[in-house]
Amino acid sequence: MADLDVDLCVIGGGSGGVRAARIAAGYGASVLIAEEYRMGGTCVIRGCVPKKLMVYASHVRHELDDAAGFGWTIPPATFDWSTLIANKDREIARLEAAYTFNAEKAGARIAKARAVFEDPHTLRLSTGETVKAKYVLIATGGAPNHGEPIPGIEHVISSNEVFHLPKFPKRILIQGGGYIALEFACIFAGLGADVTVVYRGDNILRGFDNDVRAHVRREMEKAGITILTGCIVTKVEKHGDAYTSHLSSGSSIASDQVMFAIGRHPNVKGLGLEKAGVALNPVNGGIAVNEFSQTSVPHIFAVGDVTQRINLTPVAIREGHAFADSIFGNKPIKVDHSNIPTAVFTQPEVGTVGLTETEALAQYTHIDIYKADFRSLKATLSGSESRVLMKLIVDASTDRVLGCHIVGPDAGELIQVIGIAVKMKATKADFDATMAVHPTAAEELVTMRTPSARHVRQAAE
Ligand code: FAD
Ligand code: NDP
Repeated sequence: MADLDVDLCVIGGGSGGVRAARIAAGYGASVLIAEEYRMGGTCVIRGCVPKKLMVYASHVRHELDDAAGFGWTIPPATFDWSTLIANKDREIARLEAAYTFNAEKAGARIAKARAVFEDPHTLRLSTGETVKAKYVLIATGGAPNHGEPIPGIEHVISSNEVFHLPKFPKRILIQGGGYIALEFACIFAGLGADVTVVYRGDNILRGFDNDVRAHVRREMEKAGITILTGCIVTKVEKHGDAYTSHLSSGSSIASDQVMFAIGRHPNVKGLGLEKAGVALNPVNGGIAVNEFSQTSVPHIFAVGDVTQRINLTPVAIREGHAFADSIFGNKPIKVDHSNIPTAVFTQPEVGTVGLTETEALAQYTHIDIYKADFRSLKATLSGSESRVLMKLIVDASTDRVLGCHIVGPDAGELIQVIGIAVKMKATKADFDATMAVHPTAAEELVTMRTPSARHVRQAAE
């Protein structure tokens, strides 16, 4: 006999798992969450939240740099890494407790344990207990990739360790050209480090609009970050407290820390999926699910990063909520994965929703591009060389705005709001009919009158 008998066992107390557990418990289900590390998961413990706190810390540098042009004389500032880390840790501990409290308040029980399948309805906890569950939700998230086992790989840290470095690295090499590599490159540069980014492709942020990629790269380089493209790290040597990274291009870089941010893989290993009969997606290695997040086993569901759909916290939360509504609330809901707004918290930030220019050209015959690349009003006095990019992609046949791409201050905040308009299928005429808010940078979005490019693709014969 199992030690526990529940309606729902959720494996993983992160973004998707906790939301699903709370909603299911609210419908009256008996719920157990098994969490092997810390409640809150990646986003709260070693992802979005601590990262954004570090972004704020880094931003202070830019405000200090801008101050003189506005008349301020500020004595030379100093930065203390250990204060930032201690304050950040205190906030994360508070959030972890809040996650625990809210899940329990909703009626879910939490087991601080690893859970693995014994059979399709039975899970074994690392505490030794067994759980019999009518339904199981796999919400185990993902973990950083380390890449090929190159010589010296043991010296390389990932985003898991970067939040707890005992000492601030004055020089850091970061491999990768995606979200995490670039966000941390900007964080460390703002805090005063000498930063080198090593990326294997021809330009960073593959998959984003090409103008965004070029703009972010230029801005990061203006901020003093070295970006080396078309090469990879092939070997890392340790000399005392420092490292030498050898690159495929033949050069080598000295630094105090080497970090790889080269993607993440779904946490499926050792879960006992074969005992449960749960199939993986052969393309990306995540758990294969249908539009209701149902796996190949009808009573087992999976949400969030472990399914390798779109690996963002709000997506995991929405999938977890939809699962609980569908199964325990008798309200079948499919999550709409189209037009998801996203931000990259580089400095300056990227905010994007909808199609890139390249994607639009592949799907539509008549595309108009509206683009503004300018210095903000603030920069006129601060003397900052930073430029803002605003870009709209419009289907010229229907006038519908298919994509919006912003690089500049608060682009993440802006794209959240523009995301509503794009989701509502707003047209360029709707944008134009909206009165500008002056003086702002965002007013460009409703005042761009003339397309900077018009593309017409002839229909194939
Ligand atoms: P997770 O939050 O990863 O939760 C999975 C949980 O399962 C973990 O707590 C893990 O310990 C537990 N677990 C795993 N296996 C078991 C087991 N067998 N038994 C028990 N427990 C188990 N997204 C954004 O939207 N915005 C951002 O700004 C952002 N920044 C990020 C920054 C970094 C550095 C990283 C790494 C990620 C970031 N993300 C961001 C992505 C976001 O964190 C993830 O998409 C999100 O956390 C996924 O939620 P999840 O519920 O799928 O998994
Ligand atoms: P990304 O997929 O964003 O970027 C991975 C980068 O590593 C790419 O530039 C990729 O290159 C490169 N890469 C992959 N494999 C190798 C390899 N073997 N050697 C060298 N380079 C390699 O992953 P991240 O790790 O940055 O982040 C993981 C995910 O977490 C993100 O995709 C996102 O979903 C989420 N996240 C979201 C954030 C946000 O919302 N602000 C912030 C942080 C993370 P290539 O392009 O050539 O494939």
